[in-house]
Amino acid sequence: MANLGYIQVVRHCNHFCGFCSNPATPYVHELATMRPLVDDFVRRGYYGVILTGGEPTLHPDLPAIARYATDAGLHVRIITNGTRLADPAYARALAAAGVRLAHVSIYSVRPAVEARLRGHDGTLATALAALDSAHAAGLEVNVNCVINRHNADHLDQNVRYLTRHHPQVRHFVWNNLDPSMGRAEVNQAQFTPRLADFELSLERALRHLHKGGRTFRVEKVPLCYLGGFGWASTETRKIVKGEERIVHFLDAKQTVRQTDWAHVYADGCAACTLRPICGGLFDRGAAYDPAELAPQFVDPDAIVRAIIEDPDDPAYPLRDLAAWKRAFAARLAAATDAAPADDAPIPVGRLTEGGARRYQAKRRHEARLAEARGVAQEPDADADGDAEPA
Ligand code: SF4
Repeated sequence: MANLGYIQVVRHCNHFCGFCSNPATPYVHELATMRPLVDDFVRRGYYGVILTGGEPTLHPDLPAIARYATDAGLHVRIITNGTRLADPAYARALAAAGVRLAHVSIYSVRPAVEARLRGHDGTLATALAALDSAHAAGLEVNVNCVINRHNADHLDQNVRYLTRHHPQVRHFVWNNLDPSMGRAEVNQAQFTPRLADFELSLERALRHLHKGGRTFRVEKVPLCYLGGFGWASTETRKIVKGEERIVHFLDAKQTVRQTDWAHVYADGCAACTLRPICGGLFDRGAAYDPAELAPQFVDPDAIVRAIIEDPDDPAYPLRDLAAWKRAFAARLAAATDAAPADDAPIPVGRLTEGGARRYQAKRRHEARLAEARGVAQEPDADADGDAEPA
C-alpha cells in the first residue's frame, strides 16, 4: 500500500490563520526524537513521509530529517506556507536534502482574502514565489487549499489563475476545513463553510483541472458534493484500497493511526448506492449539517474502477474489479470495532523548559494578533494540565 505518514516537525508558525487546526504547543522535536518516527514508518513499509507543522521550515533541522528519511528509502514531502521556500537558496537546500515534493498552501488568489485568512499582509506574493523557486530547485510542486467560508465561492478562480501563471503545478489538494481542533474550533462561525457554499465552484475547479490534464484530491468532502469526480476523494480512495495513515501530532494527542475513513452519515445515506465507499460528512467539530447530504443512485463501480485502474498508481495490486470486490467483501467481513493492534507508542517530541517559555511568549504575541484580526485564540495547551515540562 502507498501509505503516507505525517510528522509534525514544529507546531509554531509565522502566519496566524484563524482556522488553524494545529496551532502552537509547548512540545519540541529534535533530530533525536524525529528519527525513531521515521524508522517506524520504514519498518511498517510506508511509501513516504510528509513533514508538516505548524510551519515545518521553521525547524532548523528540517533538511537533516529530510536527508535521514530519504536515505531510509522514504519519499519525502513537506507542507509549507512558502515563506522560506520562496528563497531560492533554501529551496535548493531542501532539494539537496532529498525533499521531492513541496505542497505549498494557498487559500485564495485574491490578495485581500489570502491576507485575511493568513492574518498577515503580503503572504500571497510570497507563496506564489515559492511555487517558482521550488520548481527551479527541481522539486515537484503541488498546491494545497483549505476550503473555508471565505474562499468557497472562488475555488475555480484560484485554479484558473494558478494553472495560467504557474503551469508547473500539476496536482492540487483540497481539504475541507476541519472544525474540530485548535483555532478552527473556536472560530467555526467565521470560517466553516456550508457544503452548498463551495459545491459549484469546486465542481468548476475540478472540471478545469481535469480538462487540462492536472490531477487532484479532495478530503473531507462527501461524495454527493463531488459530482463526477468521486474517484478524487481521499477517503474513498483509502476505503477502496484499504490504506491507513499515521499522524505524529506534536501535542498531547501524540500518535494517531487512522484505519477507518468513515465519518458521519445522515439517515438518507442508508439508501445511497455510494455508501460503502463514501467517507460521509466530516463533522468532528459538529459544525457541518448532515441535512445537506443527498443520497446518490449511481453505479459505485465506475468510481472504484477509476481508482483501482489509476495509471498514476501502478503499485496497487488489485486492478480487476471482480477481484477487488471479493477482497473488499472479505475486508468488510473481517472488520471489527476493536482498535487495530499496535506496538508500544513512540514518544512524539519532548516537553522542555525552553519549549514552555517559547510557547508562552508565542501565546502572548498571538493574543495580540487575535484581538487585532478579530478572531478567537484557542485554549492554552498548558492550561489543561497535559503539558508539564519533563
Ligand atoms: S448521501 Fe451519504 S453516503 Fe451518499 S454520497 Fe452523500 S454522504 Fe455519502
